[in-house]
Amino acid sequence: MKLVQTHAAPADAAERAAVPPVICYPVDSLPRPDMAPFHAARVGWQRVAEVLIPPREARVWAVPAGHFFRITSVEGPQVGDLNLWAQADLRERFYSGKTRALHGTHLSTGDRLWSSFPFLRPMATITDDTLDWYGFDAYGGAVHDVIGTRCDPYTHHLLSGGGQYHHCCHSNLTRALADWTGLPLREAEGHVHDVLNVFMCTGFTRDTGQYFMKASPVRPGDYLEFFAEIDLIGGLSACPGGDCSAEHSSDVARCFPLLVEVFRPVAPPVGWVPPAGNGYDRSHGRP
Ligand SMILES: [Zn+2]
Repeated sequence: MKLVQTHAAPADAAERAAVPPVICYPVDSLPRPDMAPFHAARVGWQRVAEVLIPPREARVWAVPAGHFFRITSVEGPQVGDLNLWAQADLRERFYSGKTRALHGTHLSTGDRLWSSFPFLRPMATITDDTLDWYGFDAYGGAVHDVIGTRCDPYTHHLLSGGGQYHHCCHSNLTRALADWTGLPLREAEGHVHDVLNVFMCTGFTRDTGQYFMKASPVRPGDYLEFFAEIDLIGGLSACPGGDCSAEHSSDVARCFPLLVEVFRPVAPPVGWVPPAGNGYDRSHGRP
């Protein structure tokens, strides 16, 4: 937050600031997938599982590679905090920061959810987004961000002067993963990670660079749809912030459930090949 200037600007300050930005990861080195085979694969698909996420709680579910899953708003505006793990190894998990570096601050159709080092491969591809019309609003806000982390009881404790709140997304995901895996709570907690904020509308203020949220434009019936590139475990928390128009980390906001459905296509998308592990040799320059 650069609010205080204590150093005089150099003579060439304007010249330095005028240098145009360069995209860190040019898109031509990361081609967007052709969505047509994914959409064609939805014809005749079969719904094989359904999980209702209660308000201020989280649930975990499995998605085999080659299946789709949808997160749908039901009953009222509600944002969800999504975690993904590889079924084969919980250490391979969604890497929000690298996904942000590759695709930008907010995700939509055609973007991929990448996994942590040393795996770094697509875990899921977003195949549909009924909120793709929203784009960026006048405040710089957009939906489905990978810039927030997840609401958590530690930050709440820090900022509230010692409060104890147990239904932040971090705790919800921790309990749900512990229940699913049978791991002790504290071990499960270590696997909970930065999220994709499904349906959440967020941005950064231009003047102070602060993370902001505003009421989500999501309405019942809206959904975000994913294709599982590898065997996945998904975890979703129906955030205690509800539509995140005011506050989270409390029981004040109106909250609604979220629906997760898993679909098995008749056949995998034409041309789809499950992603191999990352090809870096991991020598880090030493023999
Ligand atoms: Zn939350």
